[in-house]
Amino acid sequence: MEFSLEKLVRENIRSLKPYSSARDEFMGAAKVFLDANENSMGSPLTKWYNRYPDPHQEKLKEEIVKVKNLTIDQVFIGNGSDECIDLLYRCFCRPAIDNVIICPPTYGMYEACGAINEVQVRKVQLLPNFQLDLDGVAEAVDENTKLIWICSPNNPTGNVMDREEIESILLNFTGLVVVDEAYVNFSRHRSFIPSLVDYPNLVVLQTFSKAWGLAGLRLGMAFASPAIIALLHRIKPPYNISQVSQELAIKALGEVGQVNDMIRELVNMREALAEVFSRIPIVEKVYPSQANFILVKMMEATRVYDFLKSKGIIVRDRSAEPLCQNCLRITVGTEEENTKLVDAMAEYLNTLVK
Ligand code: PMP
Repeated sequence: MEFSLEKLVRENIRSLKPYSSARDEFMGAAKVFLDANENSMGSPLTKWYNRYPDPHQEKLKEEIVKVKNLTIDQVFIGNGSDECIDLLYRCFCRPAIDNVIICPPTYGMYEACGAINEVQVRKVQLLPNFQLDLDGVAEAVDENTKLIWICSPNNPTGNVMDREEIESILLNFTGLVVVDEAYVNFSRHRSFIPSLVDYPNLVVLQTFSKAWGLAGLRLGMAFASPAIIALLHRIKPPYNISQVSQELAIKALGEVGQVNDMIRELVNMREALAEVFSRIPIVEKVYPSQANFILVKMMEATRVYDFLKSKGIIVRDRSAEPLCQNCLRITVGTEEENTKLVDAMAEYLNTLVK
């Protein structure tokens, strides 16, 4: 069967008459805006924030496409990639009928969003080497499978999924393959963005929350064919990206050099931290990471987690996740934070000797 976006999209979304915002209806130059029930007087902050932001985020997209080498109609901006994830469900998955595939252990929002949208989430666990189980995925797919979520580099395991295996899923699956590249800037591997021209069923997610250091702004991006992007635009809340976020992201996009410096430093510190942890006696394994965190398997991980917490250091206990028994996921911090963490680990070891 061929990929058909027309067939894939939910009927109610295909026939939707999208909400048209006040600013959608008038794009030309005007001096008097009495169309959107804003406060014409201004605000206690600056006079610009009394106006609704550009619903299409044109200026921000112009800057993004320069960096990503795309065209504007291939870009959707969400309130974090979390909004992109939710909108993909709402666009393509009929509640109580359709299903999606996730490959645990992976990012938790794919499953949570499925539950919120009443969409069955089929789990095909990764292989013990944290790579995709292609046979398992093929078996789990049926005629109502609309999305396959692939996180690469994967959270919490930190590895990149084999490129050819992702491509084989893209070729053989007639639904959408979403490749979540939240951590791609920390990896040595190429993004799937250049492959958008080859695969009409590919969606790539990226975010400003990780390498760009702007988690507080809530800005995520979905890159896909213009037809898929147009569908996401039809269903998004009209003003989903605030004026402040748009302005600050444009400013940040002018500082690519500084961001690249941070990435290099974080990668160096990741490798140093991995090295230190691999020498800690209770540590059984530090998994190689292509992200800004490391996954560490150790004796009695939950006890270590509690001890670190008592010292005011919070890491993520992933022990309950499949293939992650006794694993903590540790974000690479600043030099000072990493030192505090390593010192606390030494202190924990001392408690064991006594
Ligand atoms: N995808 C992955 C793999 C993540 O780990 C996260 C955040 N932890 C997100 C998406 C969500 O990112 P955002 O802040 O853009 O919503």
